[in-house]
Amino acid sequence: MTKTIRYYSTNRNLKGVEGIAPFTNRVSFKDALLQGQAPDEGLFMPDTVPQISYEDIISLRGKPYVESAMLVTGAFLRDEISREALEKIVNDSYNFDVPLEKVVNRKYIMRLDQGPTASFKDFAARMMARLMSHFRDKGKRLNVLVATSGDTGSAVGEAFKGVEGIDVNILYPKDEVSGRQKKQLDTIGDNVHAVSIDGKFDDCQDLVKQAFSDPSLEHLNFTSANSINFGRILPQMVYYFYAYARLCEDGEKIVISVPSGNFGNALGCEYARRMGLPVKKLVMPTNENDEFPRFLKTGCYEKVSPSRACLSNAMNVGHPSNLARFFELYGGTVDRMGKVHKYPDIEAMRKNIYSVSISDKITKECIKKTYDTYGVILEPHGAAGWRGLEIYLEENGNFSPCVSLETAHPAKFPDEIIELLGIAPELPDSMKNIDKREGEPVELPGDYEMFKEYLQDNLKVTE
Ligand SMILES: *Cc1c(COP(=O)(O)O)cnc(C)c1O
Repeated sequence: MTKTIRYYSTNRNLKGVEGIAPFTNRVSFKDALLQGQAPDEGLFMPDTVPQISYEDIISLRGKPYVESAMLVTGAFLRDEISREALEKIVNDSYNFDVPLEKVVNRKYIMRLDQGPTASFKDFAARMMARLMSHFRDKGKRLNVLVATSGDTGSAVGEAFKGVEGIDVNILYPKDEVSGRQKKQLDTIGDNVHAVSIDGKFDDCQDLVKQAFSDPSLEHLNFTSANSINFGRILPQMVYYFYAYARLCEDGEKIVISVPSGNFGNALGCEYARRMGLPVKKLVMPTNENDEFPRFLKTGCYEKVSPSRACLSNAMNVGHPSNLARFFELYGGTVDRMGKVHKYPDIEAMRKNIYSVSISDKITKECIKKTYDTYGVILEPHGAAGWRGLEIYLEENGNFSPCVSLETAHPAKFPDEIIELLGIAPELPDSMKNIDKREGEPVELPGDYEMFKEYLQDNLKVTE
């Protein structure tokens, strides 16, 4: 019998920090999923990392993606969900391709851009949505509230579309999203509602926060679906196993490069190695927000504040939210503000992880060179990943096999690709019809009383 996995808070040891009462209990996956964040604002971590045998890993060879998803997520969830229910969730979540494209020799790009919003976030958001539907209290509706400044909102919205027992309201700042983003958010439809707020992104976030902490709205059964939910980390462990099984011979190790912002994706790879995947090195390129590569070099952590606006805009993060989990895994503690309470074992980190900052200039050069030399089209996030891998290999000696992640579809960056390559990549089928879709948002002022009235009048409580 293996031990049942429980989830603890990264802040459980913080003593004497103002405003934080450490949460020292452990909770089930279900509670970690539905609460999102620990009551002390820490991040939930599993107290045991389940092991996957090498035989099981290579038995994935030639099998479809859903087999990898069953093996990896099942290792965490088997005490809390039946195999049949998990199979349904996994099959429903992963109904799109996961291409591995050869660049040169045994170096590959894994394209995680074939989901409904052409971003790797679809992998995590789709599975989390279905897990929430499974674990919610039956008979009660779950109401997801999200504030977005653009892309995350649509990935979350699309992920929950049509999912049983859950309604989603996405708040966005009326004048701060692009025309295309607005169209994408307004027209998801079904159980997903767009709310256009006359205010800024911060106002949207404040409205959501106030609603969450308003006792008179407790009956509405809110949840946040935010990016630090462990339910979003778990699905991000899967594709590393899938790539290994497809690309590696018996006994080989693999180098994996993950373009990184809030470090949730790279954290999936860190867990995959701890579960038994033979990873030689986890390469974590960042853009010009270089707090992490600087930390690995100097041993001293200093966040970048305010964060720098780079081409790879989903990686514009000056203090990655999942850094707390990386620190924890290596014996350290850092809080939400970026203050280090205990430094991790940096030698152990350096042994497993390599990081490098890729400037916008180098990102652009890489997009052009990779296309001219290999005929492979990358967008800015994937280019940071690929160039980071090349630099690692230049500094440490050539090595194969390697895989670098492409986290968005190049067609989402038409201006850069046309400027650099002179071609316009075609949108994936999932995104081709957005211009033809129809739908209108609810329009509200940035005022809490009005927002509250909207919630009370429109949100459903029972199924
Ligand atoms: C969110 C995102 C990233 C960064 O992933 P993290 O898990 O936050 O490190 C990279 N590329 C794209 C396209 C993204 O949307």
